[in-house]
Amino acid sequence: MDRRSNAGVFMEWGTKLEDCLFCRITRGEVGADIVEEKPHAIAFRDINPQAPVHVLVVPREHIPSVSDLGPEHCDVLADVFALIGDIAVSEGIAQRGYRVVLNIGEEAGQAVDHLHFHMLGGRFFSWPPG
Ligand code: 5GP
Ligand code: ZN
Repeated sequence: MDRRSNAGVFMEWGTKLEDCLFCRITRGEVGADIVEEKPHAIAFRDINPQAPVHVLVVPREHIPSVSDLGPEHCDVLADVFALIGDIAVSEGIAQRGYRVVLNIGEEAGQAVDHLHFHMLGGRFFSWPPG
């Protein structure tokens, strides 16, 4: 069974898809400060910002991580990157520079198992990251 698209089905780590936090935000069941939306993706401000601009860009579909992406997600990724480009302009960081971060798995610190891109801007960032 395809666990990416079956609400009510248990995900392999025991959380019901319908309980996924970012699915609930995309459905409007949990409030968020929404910045911009597209048909396949939504952008909202991180509840615990790590920079003056900290926006999460999230596919509407429950895609747990990068390894769950396939060629069928072209439209999703097009909307994700269109949002990133638009929001960089609207937040005034397109010219200054900003960082897009994708945490994957435990060692990278992924806390929410629904694919999401962090947009961080408005300050200088060190490299390598901590
Ligand atoms: P991760 O660590 O999985 O890459 O990022 C998850 C992000 O989601 C964190 O930066 C965290 O602050 C953010 N977050 C967690 N819960 C909520 C919430 O209820 N609302 C919003 N807007 N962001 C959240
Ligand atoms: Zn989800």
